[in-house]
Amino acid sequence: MNQNQNPYAALHISERAQEFVHKTEMELASVFARIEAIEYQNEAKVLHALQQERIALHHFAPTTGYGYDDIGRDALDRVFAHALDAEDALVRPQFTSGTHAIFTALSGLLEPGDTMLSATGRPYDTLEKAIGISGEEYGSLRRMGVQYEEVPLTAEGKIDTDSVVAALLRTDAAVVYFQRSRGYAWRNALLPETDFASAFEAVHKAKPSCTIVVDNCYGEFTRPAEPTAFGADVEIGSLIKNPGGGIAPTGGYIAGTHACVGRIAQRLTVPGMGREVGSYAGSYAPFYEGLFLAPHTTAQSLKTAVLFARAFESCGMETLPPSGAERSDIVQSLRFETAEALIAFCRSIQAASPVDSFVMPEPWDMPGYTSQVIMAAGAFVQGSSIELSADGPIKKPYTAYVQGGLTYAHGRLGVMLALDALWKLSTGG
Ligand SMILES: *Cc1c(COP(=O)(O)O)cnc(C)c1O
Repeated sequence: MNQNQNPYAALHISERAQEFVHKTEMELASVFARIEAIEYQNEAKVLHALQQERIALHHFAPTTGYGYDDIGRDALDRVFAHALDAEDALVRPQFTSGTHAIFTALSGLLEPGDTMLSATGRPYDTLEKAIGISGEEYGSLRRMGVQYEEVPLTAEGKIDTDSVVAALLRTDAAVVYFQRSRGYAWRNALLPETDFASAFEAVHKAKPSCTIVVDNCYGEFTRPAEPTAFGADVEIGSLIKNPGGGIAPTGGYIAGTHACVGRIAQRLTVPGMGREVGSYAGSYAPFYEGLFLAPHTTAQSLKTAVLFARAFESCGMETLPPSGAERSDIVQSLRFETAEALIAFCRSIQAASPVDSFVMPEPWDMPGYTSQVIMAAGAFVQGSSIELSADGPIKKPYTAYVQGGLTYAHGRLGVMLALDALWKLSTGG
């Protein structure tokens, strides 16, 4: 057979890996069905959101200058709010990242003298300097006079609700902050309908006036409802993750109650101008289309994560979450025996990419990290992690975090290439 007749061979995928993946996915039918059932519910919700706002061609038109009466911008806010179970939202291409959107929300909600209490331990790495937990950066929340406290998760990775309530009553915190996804920790993502619902209830009961803020990155559309459906006042995420559907070229969102989103809008631009200004000379079309695709894209990356988990479990490796678990984020953690195996794995993901597949990732000293880090990303949108990507710090225990996959058809090729790379390593071939 020539290469055109056997595209797997052209990609240097062995027959052994093809058969292994085929056998593995046969075992996953019920897990996949569960993921698809959530996708169907979320797609119905997104479709209703688009139809209710009567989205039409004129919403996609670019705008310039101040952006007064930008109907594309304003309708996009309402569509996202509906799709994410919130009263209101700010969806902006001008958010440079999820971190920027989270920092904007916190800056809008906290005033000098206030305390921010993290209920899920240390926040995501990029927020440490922004909050002022580490570093002395100008403009950090700490330098603006905001106090910070945190309550770690329990040893099982759950919210320690009693300790959170005790800390809330002691500090009289204005904001209680929760991170849904695992970040770079060996823990599970928190489920909105169980973990969050009970903690939110306890927090609001202890101090009704406090604001519950959720870092919702990587969680959107993995469950039938978002944290705001269970009492969160504000949830925030990145558009180059789940809710951008792989189509949004950049940006972030902040969704929540009218009162909270209104406050944050003042900080978003200028107090007194708020959300009335802000144009976008590109078209909003990719943001609408991205949201339309997001439930599907998220399901594709969940199925890819499950396949990685099951394939590596079958090889005797440790995975989190395990393949059959309920998921609340798209991230799959995999543990390797050696640094060599972790590096080979990340290189195989790079080699599986549609873009920059010829690049060989190397461990490097990334600013802000205590050990070297290796990253695999060959994405159409720079840094997009709803596209298949992986990374891991080069330190024990050697853990890779793999996420994304615009299509399951692509994700399974990544699993095959990863299996071949690891088998090659173990036979010294
Ligand atoms: C991705 C992510 C963020 C934000 O990261 P950006 O790279 O700034 O978009 C924040 N928290 C968590 C848990 C994340 O996964």
